[in-house]
Amino acid sequence: MLDESITELTGIGEKYAEELALLNIYTIRDLLEYFPYRYDVFEIKPLIELIHEDKVTIEGTVIHEPRLQVYGRKKSRLTFTVEVEGVAVKAVMFNRAFAKKQIHSDATVTLTGKWDAHRLQITVSNYKIGPANQDATIQPMYSLRGKLTNARIRKTIQSAMDYKWNEITEFIPERYLTSYKLPERKTAIKTMHFPPNRIALKHARRRFIFEEFLLFQLKMQLLRKINREASIGNAQSYDEKEVEQFIQGFPFTLTNAQRKSLKEILKDMKSPYRMNRLLQGDVGSGKTAVAAIGLYAAKTAGKQGALMVPTEILAEQHYESLLELFKDKANIALLTGSIKGKRRKEIISALEEHKIDILIGTHALIQEDVNFSDLGFVIVDEQHRFGVEQRRMLRDKGLKPDVLFMTATPIPRTLAITAFGDMDVSTINEMPKGRKEIETYWAKDNMFERVLRMIEKHVALGEQAYVICPLIEESDKLDIQDAVDLYEQLTEFFPPEVKVGLMHGRLKSAEKEEVMKQFADNEVQVLVSTTVVEVGVNVPNATIMVIYDAERFGLSQLHQLRGRVGRGDKQSYCILIADPKGEVGKERMKIMTETSNGFELSEQDLKLRGPGDFFGKKQSGMPEFKVADMVHDFKALETARSDAQEIIENNLLYADEEYYYLRQLLEKDPSFANILD
Ligand code: ADP
Ligand code: MG
Repeated sequence: MLDESITELTGIGEKYAEELALLNIYTIRDLLEYFPYRYDVFEIKPLIELIHEDKVTIEGTVIHEPRLQVYGRKKSRLTFTVEVEGVAVKAVMFNRAFAKKQIHSDATVTLTGKWDAHRLQITVSNYKIGPANQDATIQPMYSLRGKLTNARIRKTIQSAMDYKWNEITEFIPERYLTSYKLPERKTAIKTMHFPPNRIALKHARRRFIFEEFLLFQLKMQLLRKINREASIGNAQSYDEKEVEQFIQGFPFTLTNAQRKSLKEILKDMKSPYRMNRLLQGDVGSGKTAVAAIGLYAAKTAGKQGALMVPTEILAEQHYESLLELFKDKANIALLTGSIKGKRRKEIISALEEHKIDILIGTHALIQEDVNFSDLGFVIVDEQHRFGVEQRRMLRDKGLKPDVLFMTATPIPRTLAITAFGDMDVSTINEMPKGRKEIETYWAKDNMFERVLRMIEKHVALGEQAYVICPLIEESDKLDIQDAVDLYEQLTEFFPPEVKVGLMHGRLKSAEKEEVMKQFADNEVQVLVSTTVVEVGVNVPNATIMVIYDAERFGLSQLHQLRGRVGRGDKQSYCILIADPKGEVGKERMKIMTETSNGFELSEQDLKLRGPGDFFGKKQSGMPEFKVADMVHDFKALETARSDAQEIIENNLLYADEEYYYLRQLLEKDPSFANILD
């Protein structure tokens, strides 16, 4: 079996096994699937095809003896000229003085290094006396620790292949291999470790990319199916006519995107399965309005609804806006941590008696003594701010309620179908008509005073401003100091009638809420804050968002912050203060000034920062793939996803013999061990 310990291999003693354990290699299978993390390609190409700044390999004849310059003890520079295709190419080699003795006129040399196409120069990182060895043009490089070398692990992998060759079995059904022209597993493993050429390697990699995505998607889809089937029997028969009338009563017409999302939500409610859906859309795109309609539909079906949000202010704001939308069409109540004593008791008993249709609140909703009479629809806003356990606690207050998660962080499609593969996703990708676009500017540090003047001018017109200062770690004292300094600086700068407030992560949550409330009530006109302000607070009177050290934020985060303004009918502005060093940083600032579409930004962000950073370390929960990269290989991801869907929907794992090995593999997966039979 491939699951045998590596110590079964001759030549692997206890000590070597320990070294391999550092790489998480325990079994023969682990070893065979320990793929190189990169390949160095020493392929000789015509000079004209070499790309500037790429790592390249050239072969040529040394024209004259190398010249050595020595600076300091270990620093040196060796230069010489080689003739390649009749052209003189300059070679530079740093800190390898000893090579002078090996490189002589008329010798043929093979040089690998960084290519400068403008100067026809190569900065050599590897050299070999003699012509290029055509067989060893692709060098697998393994990620290693300790004393382990590439050569040694290659040898070990070779012996594992020799020993277990016949036990490497295929589990992907033939039909996929044929239609996608993928190599069989055995061949692909061999090619990954001993690539004969680029083309073969490319196909072997394609195979593992597909394999990883397919297995992952199958797991997600299976999970989804299991969850769905466990929730059978919750169909909500809401009153379509009443729901439509409710919508007609709104002071606006729904956007097409809102209509579409609503349709998906209502369909879930009517279906016998439990809804497990994510509703995403930029701030202000009208998610709450859609959620309200869902809550109303549940009410007409005789059910109660709950809306949980992360902060008291948000809860209050949602409460106010739902009261306005619902008027007298439902009994709506608010329950937060600051609602206590008699009032709280009243709410709790009214809830149990079904005198309340919709309960809005914070974590207070999931306290043990809060019980619904018949909770049918649960909404969690800013879902990433709650833990899995908290979401489950709310859900468990009802009998198989439909669950809708909302988020204002637009999630790129590639991530949505991986990170949330077991959820359905609805997207509002369109803003209501007539919104004024926020004007975004990028300013250098030395323009700060001008920015402050601008704030002063707008405050004089009765408007308000946020000034955000980055906070990388909540515990980082220095960063809080930044906010405090900025606060003092602004207090001094503005005339006394302009009140400046300060908010940062070190404040207790009651203090934060108090500051936020002062800002919401316009008792404070300029709010200096670390990013704690990110959560969806609505202060329509705020028209200016200044973000200090903007280069330290991700694009999605900047976009979130920007979304704090532009909520009223006045023109709003976002000023990014940044002096980014590199090109990427400049590019990011430019993208911000040019793009107001959150989805576009999140795609860019994903490309620039990679999936691991996208959600932040804390709750990323992203799967790790060995070969596949979900951004780069998103086409394969889509293919694997639709194949997985087809397999699960048609029950092929059980109904079709060709899927036998695939099914076996999934059944061995610990996450399904006691669910599948
Ligand atoms: P989100 O929850 O996505 O941030 P909301 O649902 O709170 O957005 O909507 C933001 C504002 O836009 C609210 O004042 C809401 O009444 C209004 N709104 C929602 N949908 C529309 C629409 N289709 N047309 C005009 N205004 C709308
Ligand atoms: Mg349902």
